[in-house]
Amino acid sequence: MLLADQIITYQANSDLLRERIILVTGAGDGIGKAVALACAAVGARLILAGRTVAKLEQVYDLIAAAGQLEPVIYPIDLEGATADDYDQLCVSIIDQFGHLDGLVHSAGILGQRTPLNNYRQDVWDRVLQVNVTAQFQMTQALMPALEKSNDGSVVFTSSSVGQVGRAFWGAYAVSKFAVEGMVQVWAAELEGLGSVRVNAINPGATATSMRAQAFPAENPSDLKTPDQITPAYLYLLGGHSSEVNGQSIKAQAR
Ligand code: NDP
Repeated sequence: MLLADQIITYQANSDLLRERIILVTGAGDGIGKAVALACAAVGARLILAGRTVAKLEQVYDLIAAAGQLEPVIYPIDLEGATADDYDQLCVSIIDQFGHLDGLVHSAGILGQRTPLNNYRQDVWDRVLQVNVTAQFQMTQALMPALEKSNDGSVVFTSSSVGQVGRAFWGAYAVSKFAVEGMVQVWAAELEGLGSVRVNAINPGATATSMRAQAFPAENPSDLKTPDQITPAYLYLLGGHSSEVNGQSIKAQAR
């Protein structure tokens, strides 16, 4: 495994993910969009999953305009999707591509920034649904497609508040602790069994809509852009990390 500072500056070869099938959730915006574009640029065929089709179409157009492998758009709302929807997704992937090489969970919601004593139950439920339960269901349903890959990689997106609790981060912090735990359990269960690995990335402060919602007074130009944190995702999706399982890695020093 590379050391932390090597991961942050990891430089992917231009064919790192050549013809690998990679599904990215939240691919229409923020970090998910940047990861999808970075994967396409090093040869992957993308399945762009998200809830706002117009945003996914923009990403599709950028990839097509760059002459990269034609992606597929898969609209899905992680709040409402059922186990059957995820099973259907797996069937579609196997029918169309035969297998899945990478699954990146980037979709997420912030919820309220308020004390737990005042936290609304409906917001709590939505945050846990999108940030944890849907990601568990999708990963579980797609495991048969990942197991058909020679080098299947699942990458969850965590956060610093999923490692050390911080006041007023509510269900979001709890959801990211759950993601860290899910990665460890899944990785331990898969260790030595086949070729699927499960890891997490903590992006660190990154200039996106979610970050602006959390820190409205902050100047986004002081932050890393989503493009700048993609090396960690490429590292975990490509063959250089084939022995890395159950890790939670930082995408930037900050
Ligand atoms: P954005 O808000 O920019 O993007 C979130 C993405 O998730 C959007 O594409 C959004 O779709 C999608 N999404 C939200 N709800 C659903 C849903 N119900 N169904 C399907 N898709 C949905 O956030 P970021 O890019 O900043 O966040 C990406 C990940 O990184 C998240 O998991 C976040 O917790 C994590 N993270 C971000 C940090 C940061 O500083 N930005 C720091 C640490 C962690 P739509 O565009 O249609 O709303």
